[in-house]
This record gives sequence, C-alpha cells and structure tokens, in this order.
Amino acid sequence: MPGVRVRFAPSPTGPLHIGGARSALFNWLFARRHGGTFVLRIEDTDLERSTRSSEENILASLRWLGLDWDEGVEVGGPHGPYRQTQRLELYRGYARRLLEAGIAYHCYCTEEELAAERADLMARGELPRYLGRCRDLCQAEKARLEREGRRPAVRFKVPADQTVVVDDLVRGEVSFECSGIGDFIIVKSDGIPTYNFAVVVDDHCMEISHVIRAEEHLSNTPRQVLLYRALGWPLPEFAHVSLILGKDRSKMSKRHGATSIEQYMEMGYLPEALVNFLALLGWSPGGEEEVLSLDQIREQFSLDRVAKNPAVFDLDKLNWLNGYYIRQSSPERLADLAVPYLQREGLLPREISPDRRRWVEMMVSLLKDYLNNMSEIVRRADVFFAETVDPVDGEALEVMRQAEVPAVLGRMRDKLKAASGVDEESVKKMLKELGRELGLGGKKVFMPLRVAITGQVHGPDLHRIIPILGAERTARRLERALTAAGR
Ligand code: GLU
Repeated sequence: MPGVRVRFAPSPTGPLHIGGARSALFNWLFARRHGGTFVLRIEDTDLERSTRSSEENILASLRWLGLDWDEGVEVGGPHGPYRQTQRLELYRGYARRLLEAGIAYHCYCTEEELAAERADLMARGELPRYLGRCRDLCQAEKARLEREGRRPAVRFKVPADQTVVVDDLVRGEVSFECSGIGDFIIVKSDGIPTYNFAVVVDDHCMEISHVIRAEEHLSNTPRQVLLYRALGWPLPEFAHVSLILGKDRSKMSKRHGATSIEQYMEMGYLPEALVNFLALLGWSPGGEEEVLSLDQIREQFSLDRVAKNPAVFDLDKLNWLNGYYIRQSSPERLADLAVPYLQREGLLPREISPDRRRWVEMMVSLLKDYLNNMSEIVRRADVFFAETVDPVDGEALEVMRQAEVPAVLGRMRDKLKAASGVDEESVKKMLKELGRELGLGGKKVFMPLRVAITGQVHGPDLHRIIPILGAERTARRLERALTAAGR
C-alpha cells in the first residue's frame, strides 16, 4: 500500500494504558506491514493535566514494548514540531481562515450561560448542544461584549440538516445527524485549540493516511469530517478499534487490576508477552497459533481481521502467555530479571559474586515453570533463602507421620554429610540407592524428603532442588525434620 502514514497521538495526562498501547501497537503494525511511516505526536493541549513526566512514561513504555517511531517527539522529522503546544500558531492560522470564510464565528458565551442552556435542553429531554446564540452577532453586539471583558472562543458552524457518513474500515458505514451536534468550539478563549480541531489540522499537515484509534473517538469523527470538508482537505481513512472490556464485560478500568504498561513491567511481565497479548485484543491471526512474536504478527497484521465487537481483557491468558515466554527465556535473562526483585526483598546483596550469580541462574531455571510473572520469584524462591522450613499444610504433616520417615530422612542426611559436594547426577544416584537400601518405592522416599526440604508436597524434582540448596543446608533441614518428627 503506497504512502501509508499513521500516528499514535497520546495525551500525556497519565501513564500509557493498555488501551493506548494497543492503539499504538496497531498503528505500528499497520505501518510496518505496509512499509509506511509511524508518527508519534503528543497531544498536550489540556494544559492543566498534561505533564512531561507522563510523556516520558508513555515514550518509555512504548520503547519497552519494542515499538519505535519514524517521526515524532525525540526523533524529529519533516512535519514537526510534534508536540501540539508548540504548534499553536498553526491552529490559529487555520481558525482565522475559517472565521474569514464565515464557517466559524466568535462566541462570547460564559460557562454559566452554556451550563444553563445545557440544563434547559436536558430538562426538555433534548440533546444538550449549543444552539447558536452567538452565530449572528452584529459588530456592535460583539464590541459591547468585548467591552464587558469577555474573550471570545471560536466556534465552528455545523451545517444544518446534513448527515455525515463515516466509512470506517472496522465498523463499516456509520451515520451521524448534524442536527444532534451543535456548533462546537475549535479554539478556546485562551487561544488553545480543542482536540477535534488540532487533530484535524495535524493529521492533515502530517499527511496521515489512516487514523487508527479507539472506538471512544468514533463520536468525534463526524465533527472532524466536517472540519476536513470546511478546510477543503481530503479525508484520511478511519479505523476505530473496539473497546476493551474486563472479564465481567464492563469497560476496563482500575477495578479490573493494573491498567498501565508500567505496572505490568514492574510486576515482571515480559514485553513480548504483553505485545502478543495486546495484538490479540481485537485482532486475530489467520491460523490457530496464538503465540506470536512481534515479527510474526507484523507479517500477518491487517485491519480486515480487527473485530468489531469488544475485546475482553483476560488476565489468565496474559499469565499463560507470560509463563510461556518466561519458560522460553535463557537462564541469563531470567537471572537479570529476577535479581532486582530478590534484592528489593533483601534476599540478595547489592553486589553479587559470579558464583552467586550462577546459583541464581540455576534457581530461576528450576522455578521458571511455576511463574506467571517474574515478581512471583520472591515467593517461589523463598524455600532457597529460608533458614528453616516447616510443613505448609495438613497433607504435608500427614506425609511426615508415616512409619518409614525417620529412616528415609536419617539415611539421606548421612549420605549428604558423606558427600563432598552434590550435583543433579549424584543426588539421583543417592535417591536410587536410598530406595534400594530401604526397600521402598519412589513416593515413600520422595515425599518425606520433599516435605522436610521444602515444606511442600508438590514442587520441582529433588535432584534439582538439592544441588541448589547445597548438601549442608539440605542435611540440616533433614536433621531438623527428624527432631520435629520426635523420633
Ligand atoms: N489525544 C487523543 C487521545 O489520547 C488521540 C485521539 C486520536 O487518536 O485521534 O485519546
């Protein structure tokens, strides 16, 4: 597809959320799929709520997800500046053009007057909208209002009795009656453009070919279409991606858990898991395979496969995908990810020796099967850091009541004490010998040892646990369990 130019245009009023990240991802995928350009524009015209720290958070989250942009803040480009507050003159110029053409007018209404009009319409069961009080003010009236100290906003004249049809690439044709819209403000009295106006000017000036964004903005689109027409500009294609709902089918919100990308990063979700998960929120691959890398998704991505119906945020699915990517990761990477969590808990020192580092690699390689996210390493690794362990539940206690327990624990302790060091092979050998010597089958040997060593009935193989714990510490745990068994 020639000339594809798309953009992600976040308002920096908070961190990057799941929904925003999904919009960014879809735009990025579309650009990369079609050899197009991905633009990152910052829509910071809400002066009170926009902050540089939110902007930084958004950019950092995008980069962490592996999304890059060809034009925009920080990287620059031929259509800059890419922050709306640095483009105010441009919007004012186009507003003047609409004023001169008589398609826009100055409106002097105060907040109180507008609120009264809205309340009045609502009381009559009508759509709240601006009824055009300032549409036809004469010069004398304007002068009088200005003498009162009123500063005008610029309003766009919505043509009466028209229907705007938006031909949306996801939703199909959607019609809007102009009668329900009402003249809307394009530049506020403080000279700052409103979203609908700035977005049209920028999308046009930045030569955006496809506007891919969340469904929330579908209701803004007829206003934007009217502005394109008034300015004599060609329309971009529109694609509105469906809402994201929680599992209870209400709109995704904080109630449903973490909503920002940063929170997922901090909990130890891997970027490739999140990207894979986000792509499946509304888009579906052609085949059955849902575990897909960013490259694989990019090769397949098309707007045809973006669903109209809402996407459901399923944390179990994210956990499953994340677990998958964790298991695929190298011991080195897992250790890099795990160490900060363990340090934060005071389980590891700030400086880690090469030996200790190798030990962490062994431990995370063992525990990776049990992790939904990397922060869970703290709880899972506890058994390797604790001085002592006790049976965690009734089932574990029951195991320790069996008659052969003292013999199993005692003999294993002796074997470990006699060994100079242990590795997986030597532990396997010890366990086999132990079974043979005592004439006991697998479970009778493994269960009491596992409970004595980890406190639990279930868990990784003993021949993998014991070398990590070390012969000496394991022997001490067996000793303690023997004493506790009182035999
Ligand atoms: N600044 C808008 C937002 O963050 C962008 C909407 C659009 O993509 O047009 O919701």
